[in-house]
Amino acid sequence: MKRMAVGRLFHESHGYAPATAAADITVVRGQAMIEGAKGNGTTLGGILDALIERADIEILPVSDSMIAPSGAIDHGFYVEQRQFWGEELKKLAPDAIVLDLHGSMSTTELEDAEGDFLSYIRAAIGGNAVIGVGLDLHANITSKMLNAADICIACKKNPHDDYYDNGKKVVKLVFDVLEGRLRPVYTFAKTRMIAPGRIETHLSPLNEMHARARALEKSEAPVVDLSIYNIYRFADLTDMGQSAVMLSNGPYAQAKAIVEDYAQEFWNLRESFKDETVTIAEALDATAKGKSGITKAFADLGDRTLAGAPGDSTLILQAALNHPVKLQGAMTVNDPETVAQAHAAGVGAKIKMLLGGKVTPLYLPFDVEGVVKLLNNKDIRLIGPNFANESAAMGKTALIEIDNRFLVIATSKPGFILDRAIFESHGVNIREQDFIVMKSQFHFNRNVEGFAATIYIASAGLAYYVPGAFPKKRARVWPDTNVDDAPIIAAQIVERLAV
Ligand SMILES: [Zn+2]
Repeated sequence: MKRMAVGRLFHESHGYAPATAAADITVVRGQAMIEGAKGNGTTLGGILDALIERADIEILPVSDSMIAPSGAIDHGFYVEQRQFWGEELKKLAPDAIVLDLHGSMSTTELEDAEGDFLSYIRAAIGGNAVIGVGLDLHANITSKMLNAADICIACKKNPHDDYYDNGKKVVKLVFDVLEGRLRPVYTFAKTRMIAPGRIETHLSPLNEMHARARALEKSEAPVVDLSIYNIYRFADLTDMGQSAVMLSNGPYAQAKAIVEDYAQEFWNLRESFKDETVTIAEALDATAKGKSGITKAFADLGDRTLAGAPGDSTLILQAALNHPVKLQGAMTVNDPETVAQAHAAGVGAKIKMLLGGKVTPLYLPFDVEGVVKLLNNKDIRLIGPNFANESAAMGKTALIEIDNRFLVIATSKPGFILDRAIFESHGVNIREQDFIVMKSQFHFNRNVEGFAATIYIASAGLAYYVPGAFPKKRARVWPDTNVDDAPIIAAQIVERLAV
């Protein structure tokens, strides 16, 4: 009977957004953690299902924090979590620890929070327990992370509809290590660059890079996993870059050349990583033209809560109100003050608001009137497939109608605004709208399939990358800094010493 500790501390930390306070973070522990996450479309969902399927193990739930992307995590909160993990693991003395981490988390004092966290728990439990981690492919992989964990692999798709499968794979590999079939060796190389756009894995050139990696995993026996990481563009980390990481079973002679080829290829193709976007005005014109067709899903790239922006933009709403064609639409605006005001006023009340624009420095509050249509105190669960059954993490909400045609869901927290449940839970029929606004770039596409067609809007905000708009203080990466002298960081090999 193997004893398996399980948990999640998932956060993508925006280097330019306000810090994330402890009060805004949910921590779930004990059996509630298993009940809340099993079967979900996340890495933790896959981990739990893979463990539940096995009769020969005991699951030890430790702690679960699934935090929507935002500014760096309050360091005090992190230190408390780390200490809790250390103490629990010492008490439980598990055979293995299986974790869902993002890989791009920072605290207000630490750049590489996962590297620190994994080193800390490794020190707490010693060398005998196996540590397995499933990461997001926007992680910034570090040797500290690979040194501490036995299994440390990324999901392979963007949008990440394979989180769940990756969770299952991590569990399989953890058992391979526990049962002596796998001796993990990591070889990784980095390129000092970010990919400014076109980072969906079904598009060229990433689709070809991933296809080759999958073929290698099949054809070369020692190659267990080849993870390709597109570093999160809004991080600012000293040791930052695109990376390719090979996990082999024992040393593999070709590994170094393969990951360095990937690093070089990223550099050679750097100019091809560009998004195809339109302006807000162009998106509204196109929507007005195709008014009788399928609802449009606007990806509000500048204000993506799925990339750490505060979600408080009203730019699309304001432009739509001024558009000559009377459109109808639904959107969220993160604004806890307006939510409180609507709840105090009650359903049916007409309120004068200063809507949104209170957190993002680029925006101003929008002075507008609306009618409160619905008040909500319940936790909304996402439909998926991305993040299926996870909490939308919006806090209390209020549905407010503006100008008899725009349905604004005011939220108390930025939330995971990528799913049709956001709208349907407030009684909004998506098919009746000319457009809905999503605070995500790709992840929402599968979650609105059949309901809406996507238009990518290069809107102003903390989550629309423009070279130079996010000056790097620590990182040295193209295109923000000149790295032509040494774009490729030579491969490193990490082999955890067996105890
Ligand atoms: Zn990601």
